[in-house]
Amino acid sequence: MGIEGMHAGVESTLAGGCDNSAMDVLRNVSLRSFNTLGADVQAQALVQVACEADIHALLGDATWRDVPILILGGGSNIVLTRDVPGLVLSVALRGRRLVRETEHLRIVEAAAGEPWHDFVAWTLDNGWPGLENLAGIPGTVGAAPVQNIGAYGVELQDRFDELDYIDLRTGQTGTLGAAECGFGYRQSIFRYGTWLAEGKRAGQEEPDKQGAASLRGHALITRVRFALPKVYQPVLGYADIEQRLLAAGGAEPDARTLFDWVCEIRSAKLPDPREPGLGNVGSFFKNPTVSEEQFQHIIGRHPHLVHYRLGDGTIKFAAAWMIDACGWKAQSMGPARVYARHAIVLVHPGGPAAGAEVLALARAIQASVCERFGVVLEIEPVVV
Ligand SMILES: Cc1cc2nc3c(=O)[nH]c(=O)nc-3n(C[C@H](O)[C@H](O)[C@H](O)COP(=O)(O)OP(=O)(O)OC[C@H]3O[C@@H](n4cnc5c(N)ncnc54)[C@H](O)[C@@H]3O)c2cc1C
Repeated sequence: MGIEGMHAGVESTLAGGCDNSAMDVLRNVSLRSFNTLGADVQAQALVQVACEADIHALLGDATWRDVPILILGGGSNIVLTRDVPGLVLSVALRGRRLVRETEHLRIVEAAAGEPWHDFVAWTLDNGWPGLENLAGIPGTVGAAPVQNIGAYGVELQDRFDELDYIDLRTGQTGTLGAAECGFGYRQSIFRYGTWLAEGKRAGQEEPDKQGAASLRGHALITRVRFALPKVYQPVLGYADIEQRLLAAGGAEPDARTLFDWVCEIRSAKLPDPREPGLGNVGSFFKNPTVSEEQFQHIIGRHPHLVHYRLGDGTIKFAAAWMIDACGWKAQSMGPARVYARHAIVLVHPGGPAAGAEVLALARAIQASVCERFGVVLEIEPVVV
């Protein structure tokens, strides 16, 4: 993923802030190598931002005032269904460090463009456990808070300290703690944080007008800090991990072993988007959550439906099980296909229509699941 090997015209160069470097503004760039689905759509303009001064230089340039801005990390949670007007900011801010230690915590920081998995591995190399269950998730550190990434019993919010951002409307910088980020299941105030100056788009909520929530659509996350407990607290209560634990004779794994287990479990289950024909964005749907009343109604008709009770009294259904039960596993619609080993993942060989074709398959699956179970599956990635 990246700017190397791209075929695009460099039309203008802006003064950047990193060691007197200059930023190239690339015009009519294919985004194929910038998203894991392999959607071959064009960006009207693209700039790779390697330091915060680059962002301030862009915001101060009249050319970009009032144009839509799309922030892009690793492109592993985005479905590009059309050419992208305005400016794409490809976030390439780098750097990571131990900020400070308290009696119980280590506060560790990474810049937004750091690859997430490498950051997790780096914390363990330093002997700082806490993020091992989140190993192997593609994408960047800066995008991790956007959907409050989660896997194997841990969510980003469980290890979050605070983040820094730049308000793309004003150029002002700020810092937000967990409460202001509005984290939920694959959700945050940044979740729809894609477009600037384009107003409300179909299917989106009206942005809130007050407080941190007014940043929705306007904040570029520049750095994220994590609070890692000094005492290792392994999270092992997830079926796949419990199986590994049993196979290992029940001895508690150290953080590096747990990291390895998670990587192995993931690669057995999930398609690697770098492999030909397997472009994907991970889970295409969220697991639907229902009230006790809705649950009783549905489970009465489908007693085998896999579900988990949550602490707040709601019940989460396994979307993959529902999709499977509707007969979709390994089925295709055009070049888009339901992944045979995990029905929640949709794969595509890539190309100009990849986003639209995967979305068409997703809509058909939503209709089947709704007809059979009376539940609407919500699409997880950002659709542009
Ligand atoms: C094979 C595979 C497995 C996956 N497994 C998981 C999993 O287990 N758990 C999970 O939660 N997710 C998973 N994902 C989804 C994805 O990897 C994560 O959501 C990841 O955090 C996306 O990072 P990215 O840099 O690729 O974001 P992008 O796709 O580039 O962007 C996603 C959204 O974040 C915004 N954004 C990106 N960077 C910034 C920034 N710096 N500031 C503000 N907004 C920004 C974008 O505008 C967009 O709206 C998986 C994806 C794949 C392909």
